[in-house]
Amino acid sequence: MQTKAFAAQSATTPFAPTTIERRAPGPRDVAIEILFCGVCHSDLHTARGEWPGTQYPCVPGHEIIGKVTAVGAEVKKFKPGQIVGVGCLVDSCRTCASCGEGLEQYCDGPVGFTGTYNGPVGGGFNTHGGYSAAITVDQHFVLAIKHAEKDLAAVAPLLCAGITTWSPLKHWKAGPGKKVGIVGIGGLGHMGVKLSHALGAHTVAFTTSPDKVDDAKALGADEVVVSKNDAEMKAHANSFDLIINTVAASHNLDAFTSLLKRDGTMVLVGAPSSPHPSPAVFNLVFKRRGIAGSLIGGLPETQEMLDFCAQNGITSDVEMIRMQDIETAYGRMLKSDVKYRFVIDMASLKNS
Ligand code: NAP
Ligand code: ZN
Ligand code: ZN
Repeated sequence: MQTKAFAAQSATTPFAPTTIERRAPGPRDVAIEILFCGVCHSDLHTARGEWPGTQYPCVPGHEIIGKVTAVGAEVKKFKPGQIVGVGCLVDSCRTCASCGEGLEQYCDGPVGFTGTYNGPVGGGFNTHGGYSAAITVDQHFVLAIKHAEKDLAAVAPLLCAGITTWSPLKHWKAGPGKKVGIVGIGGLGHMGVKLSHALGAHTVAFTTSPDKVDDAKALGADEVVVSKNDAEMKAHANSFDLIINTVAASHNLDAFTSLLKRDGTMVLVGAPSSPHPSPAVFNLVFKRRGIAGSLIGGLPETQEMLDFCAQNGITSDVEMIRMQDIETAYGRMLKSDVKYRFVIDMASLKNS
């Protein structure tokens, strides 16, 4: 099926309209008309070649909400007309230990997981993501959406920003009695604040933008620290169980590891294109502090997070854009000027 899309043809070419081919649904496939797609900083890193390995043309987008248009003969979970989600994964080996545990993002198979964009596909072609009018996905990688119809645009960012913060919050047991820091109040960070608060943790937001302090409190932060202010930072020394660091740029990690209590962990989810300065080893060894990483989330935990958000009335704070405005949106993202996730209304592409 010929499908309208927006693609970058190289790291330095602005996005422009194109057409891509989507497969007709096989027996286990779900064909989806895309309604909304969130704009993740990973889209920008990939399209602009900031991470190694981008293949062009590049059609990003992995926060997809859409309507089922057709299903294959073996599909029982979904039916035409149903609202569904697709996140960062569209395939994996499904036989390795990680896949068996529902942690498909850590697939140990020969090619690992298949990303919704820039992932491997038969014949060496490149998967294309949600900056497009439609997508066909194996039912295993399709998520049920239980939010009300009016909330759908604001649900899209849960598919990456939501799950990428939910997964480490759950793995490191954020909840009542725990003090959790969220560093960087952008797309991921604002969901981290909402989810940490909803899980019952004492939640502290760290921002470099003083104009985000009131917003961060409204999002659910119990306290907000402007991380450029040394006195504000020092007041929290040795006090955190867990810090989730979402910052998309290289920075000094010691300023945050110093805030962990003994045995506390800082989890890096931000993935800057250039490395952070090496952390000070003594700062870790004297309090058995850890620095860890975490990658998006598997399918079962993504469904768990979506259901938790539907039950608790949690969505993203979004600013709607047209597909044609994507370059402007990227420019604002680079200036930390997103409140707090851009979401593309795909009608703008379909009607163009
Ligand atoms: P975003 O919306 O651009 O938010 C990043 C935030 O980091 C900014 O809003 C800003 O918050 C802060 N920041 C930016 N530059 C900074 C700097 N130089 N120093 C300190 N703070 C800075 O990005 P996002 O979509 O949330 O993504 C964040 C990062 O996570 C990206 O690198 C992305 O690729 C990565 N990511 C990783 C995974 C994973 O699975 N691990 C999944 C999705 C995304 P303040 O204004 O509050 O300081
Ligand atoms: Zn993402
Ligand atoms: Zn696997």
